[in-house]
Amino acid sequence: MKQHKRFHNNRLHRDSKKFNNKRLRRNSGNNGELTIHRAGHVMISPCQIIDNGFISVVNNTIVDVGAVTETSIIKFSATSGYHSDILNFDKYSKGSKIIDHGSGIIMPSLVNAHTHFELSALKGKIPFDRGFNQWVRELINQREQCGAELLKLEAKKAIESAILTGTSLAGEISTLGITEAIFANSDISGVWFQEYLGNEIEYLESEIASKAILLALSKTNLELSLKGVFKKIALAGHAPHTTSPALLKLLKEQTNKLKIPFSIHVAESDDETEFITTGQGNWANFLKERGIDSSSWQLLPSRSPVQYLNDIGLLDPLTLAVHLINVDDKDIEIIAKTKAKPIFCPRSNFNLHKKLPDIPRFLKHGIKPALGTDSLASTDSINMFDEMLSVATHFPQIAPSDILAMATINGANALGFGEMAGTLEKGKKADFIYVPEVSGNSVSDKIMSIIEYKSKK
Ligand SMILES: [Zn+2]
Repeated sequence: MKQHKRFHNNRLHRDSKKFNNKRLRRNSGNNGELTIHRAGHVMISPCQIIDNGFISVVNNTIVDVGAVTETSIIKFSATSGYHSDILNFDKYSKGSKIIDHGSGIIMPSLVNAHTHFELSALKGKIPFDRGFNQWVRELINQREQCGAELLKLEAKKAIESAILTGTSLAGEISTLGITEAIFANSDISGVWFQEYLGNEIEYLESEIASKAILLALSKTNLELSLKGVFKKIALAGHAPHTTSPALLKLLKEQTNKLKIPFSIHVAESDDETEFITTGQGNWANFLKERGIDSSSWQLLPSRSPVQYLNDIGLLDPLTLAVHLINVDDKDIEIIAKTKAKPIFCPRSNFNLHKKLPDIPRFLKHGIKPALGTDSLASTDSINMFDEMLSVATHFPQIAPSDILAMATINGANALGFGEMAGTLEKGKKADFIYVPEVSGNSVSDKIMSIIEYKSKK
């Protein structure tokens, strides 16, 4: 069993001193007093940017958001829209702490919905050009060579770097379990997933073990939510071609009982598709080599990885379906129908597979995907600005507001924190960053300038 007690020492309070990057600043909490944050622009959501804006915050919760005009303030609420307040800004702000951030934009913090901080020590150590199978072999080798201490040290640094580049929520996948305490004690929020693969069912299927996991998760998540901490622990299955269906079903049952997210990589590589559709090929050989007996997995040939997961009952609104590169129309319809949450990691996909997920096709189906960086073993940075720019560069037909939504509210929704984060609406947590440069007249141009912000430096 994991030591879930380690998850209790959380620090939700944002430590603004750590946010010493002068260009990107994150909000700090406040205690009981009204603090008004002003800036040239405030982004309520990726579709709404107000000029000369402000957000008012009490105890890290947004109590007002709106614009300052010469004669009054205009407040915005999601239910009743914009309305003028009788007070002008001087009267409204009397006695409150006012922080004027500058002429840039206050916007929601970014969400990295899929990463492996645990693999950060492997940055630059694994060549991308020798095929996926070889990459997996190298990853396993290098990870062993690094040792737990180095993996932990680099994971910690990666989390700090993610925070410094504007990310406040992350979906961390941990195979070894070694980032649990680091994640819990860091200033990043989100979901920490313990990932399982292979045939570990032998251990997990015993009812006692299942119940123990269930109780531990349930107790920990309850304590976290009581403390108002935006961290959860959850479970992940690695992928359809690496994890037995019995284990996948068991993990999914557990997370559904607790109404917490379940994550799985799916439809990523050609090896995976070959194995799921035929039961043969490179991957079948690889599993044999590693002593993983897949003879009992009862794969029914000719189904795609997405159809297979759907058939074994894994796809629903609480499932994060990561990658989804090798999909057809039927697969996308299944994702739309089941409301599973697609998470795309285009830079990692391009590095490992020279392919990209067809994001515009998913958007046409009304699906709201999220973005993740994946790990530093398969991408150059865990900076969500880089991930957004990659989407904008490869898919110029996607509206900038859709790209920003993927890196904010869609990610927050996928991780189960959409009620509290992802947009800057009244009643949500004041989880924002300040970007000092924004240009353009339309909302779309302004958002594009934010997406390109880092590359202009
Ligand atoms: Zn991954």
